[in-house]
Formats: sequence, C-alpha cells, structure tokens
Amino acid sequence: MSDEGDRLTELAKRRGFFNQTAEAYGGVAGFYTYGPQGAALKDNVEAAWRDRYVTREGHMEINAPTIMPEPVFEASSHLETFTDMLVECAECGESHRADHLVEDHPDSAVEDAEALPNEEVADLIAEYGVACPTCGAALAEEPVEDFNLMFETNIGPGSSSPGYLRPETAQGIFVDFPQWAEYARNQLPFGVAQIGRAYRNEISPRKSIIRVREFTQAELEHFVDPDEDEPPLERVEDVVIPLYSVSQQEADDGGVQEMTVREAVDEGVIDSDWLAYYLGLSKEWYERIGVDMGRFRYRQHLSGELSHYASECWDAEGELGGDWVELTGFATRGTYDLDKHAEYTGEEFSVFQQYDEPVTVERPTVDPEMSYLGPEFGGAAGDIVDELESLAARDPDAFDGETVTVEVDGDSHEIPVEQTGFAVEEVTESGEHVRPHIIEPSFGVGRLVYTVLAHSYEEDEVDGEERTRLAMPPEIAPTTVGVFPLMDKDGLGERARELASELREAGLEVTYDDSGAIGRRYRRQDEVGTPFCVTVDYETLEEATVTVRERDSTEQTRVSLSELAETLRGLRDGDVAFGEL
Ligand code: ATP
Repeated sequence: MSDEGDRLTELAKRRGFFNQTAEAYGGVAGFYTYGPQGAALKDNVEAAWRDRYVTREGHMEINAPTIMPEPVFEASSHLETFTDMLVECAECGESHRADHLVEDHPDSAVEDAEALPNEEVADLIAEYGVACPTCGAALAEEPVEDFNLMFETNIGPGSSSPGYLRPETAQGIFVDFPQWAEYARNQLPFGVAQIGRAYRNEISPRKSIIRVREFTQAELEHFVDPDEDEPPLERVEDVVIPLYSVSQQEADDGGVQEMTVREAVDEGVIDSDWLAYYLGLSKEWYERIGVDMGRFRYRQHLSGELSHYASECWDAEGELGGDWVELTGFATRGTYDLDKHAEYTGEEFSVFQQYDEPVTVERPTVDPEMSYLGPEFGGAAGDIVDELESLAARDPDAFDGETVTVEVDGDSHEIPVEQTGFAVEEVTESGEHVRPHIIEPSFGVGRLVYTVLAHSYEEDEVDGEERTRLAMPPEIAPTTVGVFPLMDKDGLGERARELASELREAGLEVTYDDSGAIGRRYRRQDEVGTPFCVTVDYETLEEATVTVRERDSTEQTRVSLSELAETLRGLRDGDVAFGEL
C-alpha cells in the first residue's frame, strides 16, 4: 500500500474509523468493520447523498432484500457475465486479478486491461514476465480465466432453490419495477434510489476499504422516456467538469479537459444529456462532501470496458495514493434490464401512458384455421401460428397475395392466406405501454468515505507542535463539537458535562473530553476531523459565554450560551461562516 494508504489505515484503526473484521481470528480479506467514527462518517455521507439524490431531486427511496433467487440473475445476465479475470499461481495456489497484474507492472503502459480479451492479457503477462506477487513464481504459462464474482447460497434447506447475494443494489429496484411504476402513477420520468449492501467475491481484495467483498452502494435508477423527457440541464450547465474522454485517453498527449456541462454536450464529448446532468450535479456534491477537486476527474469507459448493459458510461475517479480509483459509475442502461425481466417473467415491465384522447388505430390480426394447419403441418402447426401472429403485427402487407410464407426452425412454409383468418380490425386505444430508459449513477459509499479521509488529511504545525488534522466539511465530520472544561475543578467539569448533554439534546454530535492538557484535547479532535471545540472556563460560570475554536484556522471566539446550539448548527450546516461570528 502507498504511504498515504499506510498512514490512513493506521489512523483509521487507532481512532475508530475502520478495521479489518475479526482480527482476533486472523481477519478475513475483504471484510471491514466501521468503528464509531467511521460509522458516523459513513452515515453522514449517506445522509448527504440522500439529501442530494433523493430529497432534492424528488425521487423515491426503497429498501430491498440482499438475497435474490437464481432466475433474477439469469435474467440480468450476472450469472453469465459478472466475471473478473483470474490467474492462479501453479506454485503456491494463490489467485490474482490478471488485469491488475498487467496494469501494475512497471513496463506496462496499459491503463485498462479489463477492456482486453483474456488471451491478450495472458500474452501480456508472458511478455512482461509477470511473477506471482505472493511467491515470485512465473505466471507466463498460466491461463487467464473468467471468475464469477457472485456469492452463491441456498434459499431454505436443500439445494433446490439457489440464490445469490446481490452484486449491486440495482436489481432489487428493477425486479419490482411494476410496483414503482404504479406508485408513480405511470408518470415518467421518476427515480428510485436505494442505499444498501452489495457483495462481490473479489479475487484479490486490496487497499483496505477500497476493494472489499461486502460494501455499501448508493444507487439511483432514473426511469425516463427517451423521446419525451429531458434533464433540467440549465441547473448545471455552467458547472466546469474535468473530463477524460475516450479520445483524450487514446491521444498520445491526452489529458483531462476542463469544460462546462453545456460545452461538453454541445461539443458531443458527452453523448447523453442525462449523464451530462448527473456529472454536473455530482461534481458539486463531491465538493460538498470534501473530495479534493485537484484529485478528481470523470473518465469515459473505453468500448471494451462497457458493462453488458451500458451504451455510455463515465466513472468519477479520485486519486488515492497515486492511483486513480473509481468512486462512482454513471451509466446509460437503456431498456436492457427491464427487457430481460419482462422476457423472463412474462410481466409488463413498462409504464402505461394514457393519451389525452383515445385514438382509433388499425390492428392486423390472424385467426388461423387449425383444421387445416394441424393435418397439414403436424407438430409445427403451433409455431406456425405464433409466426403468423408476429408477421401480421410487423408486416401486414405480407398477407396481400394468395399465400403467405413463414419461417419456422429454418423451414419455409407457404400457407394460403384464406386459412390464416387475416383481418384488419379498427380498435380504440386509450394509451400505450412505454418501456423507459434507465440512467444510473452508482456510488460506492466506502470508497467515498476513504476518499474524504485521504483528501482531507493534513499535517501542519500549531504553536510549535505538529498536528494531524482531517479538514473535512463540518456537515460530514463524525463529531461536530468537542466540549471541554478548562480544568476538571471548581464546577467547570460539571458545567461542561451539562453543556455536552444540552448540545446533544439540541441535535448535535458531541464528544466530551476532560483528560490531559487543553492543547492535547484539541489535537485529539483535530485528528478525527471535529470542526469545532467549546471550552467551559471561569468566564462561563460568571458571564454565561464559552470559547468556540475552529479546527482549520485554530481561531477562537466567545459565544453566549443562549446562542451556542443555534450557532453550532448554523456552522455545521454552512448557514454561517466562523469568520462571521
Ligand atoms: P471496479 O472496476 O473498481 O471493480 P466496478 O466498475 O465493478 O468497480 P460498479 O459495478 O460500477 O464498479 O459499482 C459501482 C460502485 O460500487 C463503484 O463505483 C465503487 O464505488 C463501488 N464498488 C464496486 N466494487 C467494489 C468493491 N469491491 N469494494 C468497494 N466498493 C466497490
């Protein structure tokens, strides 16, 4: 791991952000537990996400199970395609991500080996002479194979009903789409969001919480009518976004291009207006939660890298320890998932859109004469009927002549039109079924937590003493205020403990600390990112005021007790700046 990674992992464990789970049992790779600071930070990131992507956008949020039966993942194609490239060392038996070994090799200029076919990755392993990171044996002769990342389980006793832990929260939204469509009164566009656990049996989990086997996703599935609905682009059109497009990635001297959302759309750098909208909206949101915009970019997927369902995809990436890491995937999923679930269930995975007024349309129908088709075509008669029905719908002119020809299993059959019962009926329709397109921003909450920690980490000097501080936004910080008595005597400790409880009752996250010198107590809070500290001193007892100290500037000011809770809430929510007090 990088120096940054080592520093953060040490801090995270020592100060209760996160640690490897069950270390007493030796730990299990890819599983981490969030401690008190980490769980609070993660909650705050989720709350900020909900505020932005659910509440302010007017979407609905649901909560689906994490296990679903096999047919769901057959339909979604995860059983077949949700794989990573595996190479196994014949010497020590250790498994590795083949694409990562290629990308990480010092001679390699390949940035995205995942986009290459397995054989090409195997060739690159041989060409670079890649060795097993565990035992050093050569991997040149080993095959690169697909490994499915889903965790399998049995639903109920026995093995007759296999199920899988969901690899993304999204399928829980798609499988019940008919519910959400009804709830939204069949009015497009609408969005369904979910924050919850996802599971992937990663081949080689690494970089602490960045690549784990159980993690939290925050996903939004926005269902839109591609012909009618447009995003409110004007809300974000002036936001400048750093884009690393396919053409920039392929150019020899290509780098990130900074442009406004409007320019990116007008110049065709981003094809989908909806994706452009979400990139603009999200850029502001990442800034809000403390992602350093100097270490951030949007990278477009190369064509070989696109998921089985996506036509355009951009990843928000953060620079962490010298590597670019995907924080969020923004994809156009088209109708892929709803098509597949409709096909597998036979249910209507669409919205019924009512016309303003009923319309009369001509509908070609067939009513084949089975007393003719049965004896004439035997076992093929049923398939011929199906084919006649579908032909009538897609090409009614084919029934213009004396006979009509249908293909069944590669055989051509000529049928007299009079035996097909072909007719064109006039029907009145009150609306139509529309299968919406899906726009998906998919955030990994753990990677955001890690990025906020890494990007807010600072070391500086205060009063000749070194300090570590997490300069994260007050809204996101696990604790908003540290309350200290100047000394634990003369009633100061008692008053400070009372004040801590009053502030908690007022809805603030408070920590109380009376141990050690006041400077040490400040350092302790700086190190976990607490933006404000309040000190109860003798003046507090006499004049009902306290000192409020700001983490980043270390400046202090006095605030009256009667206004303290209100002031701290304003500082946390960004309604007032410390300098204005
Ligand atoms: P990667 O290429 O890094 O494996 P991905 O492209 O498979 O990621 P997506 O399927 O787009 O990821 O998932 C959406 C988000 O979920 C990612 O942007 C990431 O933040 C998060 N995520 C995916 N896999 C993991 C993991 N193993 N550990 C932690 N977070 C993850």
